[in-house]
Amino acid sequence: MSIWANVPAGPSLPAETVDSVVIGGGPAGYTAAIYLARSRANPVVLAGTAPGGQLMDTGAVENFPGFPGGVDGPELMARMREQAEEAGATVFTLDAEKIRYASAGDPAVHEIVTASGTVRARTVVLATGSAPRRLGLPGETELGGGNGVAYCAVCEAPLFAGRDVAVVGGGDSAMEEALALARHARRVHLVHRRDAFRCAPVMLERVRKLANVEIHSGAGVTALHAGPDGTLARLTLTGDTGDTDLPVQGLFIAIGHTPRSSLGDGTLELTPTDHLHISGPGGTTGAPGVFVAGDVADDRFRQAITAAGAGCAAALEAARYLEGTRD
Ligand code: NAP
Repeated sequence: MSIWANVPAGPSLPAETVDSVVIGGGPAGYTAAIYLARSRANPVVLAGTAPGGQLMDTGAVENFPGFPGGVDGPELMARMREQAEEAGATVFTLDAEKIRYASAGDPAVHEIVTASGTVRARTVVLATGSAPRRLGLPGETELGGGNGVAYCAVCEAPLFAGRDVAVVGGGDSAMEEALALARHARRVHLVHRRDAFRCAPVMLERVRKLANVEIHSGAGVTALHAGPDGTLARLTLTGDTGDTDLPVQGLFIAIGHTPRSSLGDGTLELTPTDHLHISGPGGTTGAPGVFVAGDVADDRFRQAITAAGAGCAAALEAARYLEGTRD
């Protein structure tokens, strides 16, 4: 049975205005929900129709404190949801489709539209995350989730100890992935579509110094091939000289992230990278009672633990805002 079974759906969305709505079912959203519930702000969590965030695509998570030996990404998310519900949050597997922000009011009441109706809230924590860009190759989805295609070497590099892997991308993330993987893997193939790299030169220099990293510039991954056990076995590299077969057990795709920041009505300010702009502590935004947390507002750290920390801060700030409206 799906771990998301028995989660209440649309018809029971509260009709009355609620103190808090959390949008997002990743580490930032569930942490915000735990803190809001414990401050008696009765959070309604719109966790999305595919809840759990990027950890649902991650095999073992070995860098989240409290789990010596690691924990499966989906299990960690199921535990966070359980803890949020235990604290008193009500979780709906619904997507927020649109948000109408109130600019004024005492307190302002924001409207969040879902497929099962509209919920009105005095505070909103937006924790919609970001999506790693995908190459869009056949088999990429099936080979994710621990079968070879991955998006976070910080999380998964040790799983490839002694194996051969490839990294795609020419930015700082790709260099970080290559550096992290080189400490564990036997061989790292760094594949970039151009000869010029957009990463910081110092990062490229570090990568170039490593004996077990081979750089393929002016090349792209054009096909993924699974072995008999369904995990990644080879890729096709296409460059100026044609196609090459590259046997690797891991492919780390580091071609950027797209923040899910387009939900609102244009009220919230965006950064030049399309992340939500934070104007004060705890993910404060320009809209009263609206706070942001996690990867939708973070183009630098993008870790589950930093997202969880930001969710905590946003919830504390939202609780303080609610308190202020009751004075
Ligand atoms: P990025 O800088 O946007 O780089 C993305 C890379 O992926 C580029 O080299 C791009 O190639 C390539 N790419 C994009 N689409 C592709 C496709 N469909 N197929 C193949 N290659 C593709 O993204 P990022 O590396 O994730 O970095 C994002 C931001 O975070 C940057 O500002 C970065 O400096 C920052 N960051 C900083 C650190 C740090 O300071 N330690 C670490 C990580 C990230 P082209 O170059 O040809 O466009």
